[in-house]
Amino acid sequence: MIPKDHPRYESLMLRARIVDAYKKGILADSGMIAHGRGEAFDYLIGEKTTEPARKAERAGAAALLLAENPVISVNGNTTALAAEWVVKLAEALGAKVEINLFYRTASRVEKVGEALKAAGAKVVLGVENEEKGIIEGLEGPRARASLEGVCSADVVLVPLEDGDRAEALVANGKTVVTVDLNPLSRTATTSTVTIVDNVVRALPNLIQEVMELKNCSENELKGILEDFSNDKNLEESLEIVSRAYTGDV
Ligand code: ATP
Ligand code: MG
Repeated sequence: MIPKDHPRYESLMLRARIVDAYKKGILADSGMIAHGRGEAFDYLIGEKTTEPARKAERAGAAALLLAENPVISVNGNTTALAAEWVVKLAEALGAKVEINLFYRTASRVEKVGEALKAAGAKVVLGVENEEKGIIEGLEGPRARASLEGVCSADVVLVPLEDGDRAEALVANGKTVVTVDLNPLSRTATTSTVTIVDNVVRALPNLIQEVMELKNCSENELKGILEDFSNDKNLEESLEIVSRAYTGDV
């Protein structure tokens, strides 16, 4: 039991959820390492949603609202930390939910699917018995994607994505919205909109932005997206990281 008054309570609770998901077979061991890297960057941005992150969340919401076929691609970490938020965001957008695992095994796909269903998801794509599609430019199991989902999507939300896949999705002409606490990762630098925030804050914030923007006209949404520069936003996040030692984040 983690005492509630522990100064690192929130962070330790998330860590406990990750370990628990690993023990249940939802997460690969490398998922715990990826979480540790995320934790380090979260520490440096003050473990809160920064101003640039909020701007990216607004732009990401605009991109997802403009989509004809929006898809939310989820992995073990996102499921372990934020399954309920994935389901709520998918409902708010009318988006599909697809499982995409870096270290894909049939058992892990089944367990991630069960966790998403337990969180309220009605349909989950990317499962074992589905006809497979391919993301061009990738090889092996990592190229796998759902024909109805990522393959035919115009906008994809891919929290905690691998750099190769993010690059390939952009090369395939998709608008890629990602959530990645590391502003220097390949995923962060190649995506269309990168939200440098913890997935446990980014997804509820995205839902809030979607609710606020959902009555905007197409032109207003396009305007929000055009005013957004991913490179500039990443620079702003890096500035916050570099000011961390002064406590002035
Ligand atoms: P890339 O392949 O994009 O260059 P990478 O190889 O450094 O990235 P991956 O293992 O592919 O990293 O993905 C993990 C990424 O997810 C890391 O950048 C990490 O900071 C980020 N991350 C981990 N946990 C979270 C979280 N809870 N919220 C947001 N981002 C997270
Ligand atoms: Mg990455």
